[in-house]
Amino acid sequence: MNIRPLVHTVLDLLYPLVYCDICQYPLDKGVSHSFCPACLSTLPLIRDPRCKKCGKPLREDLMDYCRDCQASRHLFTAGLSVYEYTQTIRDLIYRYKYQGETSLARTFGLLMGDLFAESAWPIDLVMPVPLHKRKESYRGFNQSSLLADYIAYGQGLAFRDDVLLREIDTDKQASLTRQDRMKNLKGAFTVVKPSIIKDKNILLIDDVYTTGATVDSCTASLKEAGAAKVFVLTLATGRNI
Ligand SMILES: [Zn+2]
Ligand SMILES: [Zn+2]
Repeated sequence: MNIRPLVHTVLDLLYPLVYCDICQYPLDKGVSHSFCPACLSTLPLIRDPRCKKCGKPLREDLMDYCRDCQASRHLFTAGLSVYEYTQTIRDLIYRYKYQGETSLARTFGLLMGDLFAESAWPIDLVMPVPLHKRKESYRGFNQSSLLADYIAYGQGLAFRDDVLLREIDTDKQASLTRQDRMKNLKGAFTVVKPSIIKDKNILLIDDVYTTGATVDSCTASLKEAGAAKVFVLTLATGRNI
């Protein structure tokens, strides 16, 4: 029996959309997510032109790729991100990841799902960038897995978070250069059920995209195990022109 619709109904009942998650202003009845129209309009939504590879915002239409994608080849097919990683978005992600406001996953997942719906990517399966077991049990949940579940559910796609695993806890990545990150990430991810992803196009979900090193490493493992193409959808990305 597929219990996902039931689980999502229960979650909706547990976390009714009453107040805006940003300004606490009462929300209209029947809204589908928890940002009021005024707050939503102030968020740094990424619009075209954006990098044709990783989806980062570009300053003007003269080039197709951001500086990072001009300098290095990514393994994933294409990426998109909903917002720029500004202080407001950083604060929201912090509340979501570290302050127990997991109900934000529904709003984030919905906004990410809306962007995915515009992409026309031919996806078979949605999965999160995995956390190392130890970190997941410490935090209590994988922030990307909740997002992936909401996106898959909203888009009517299959979701799996038991196929790609993180074997090595690659911590303190932020302070490393891209090259060091790649070295550190080599072999960090393993596919444990290759038959599930064989010849499938995968939508990989993460909260933040920085250099793309993490999703490239996931992509390498997925493709090695037989996946066809890997697309990347994140909530936020840094600017890199
Ligand atoms: Zn608001
Ligand atoms: Zn790019």
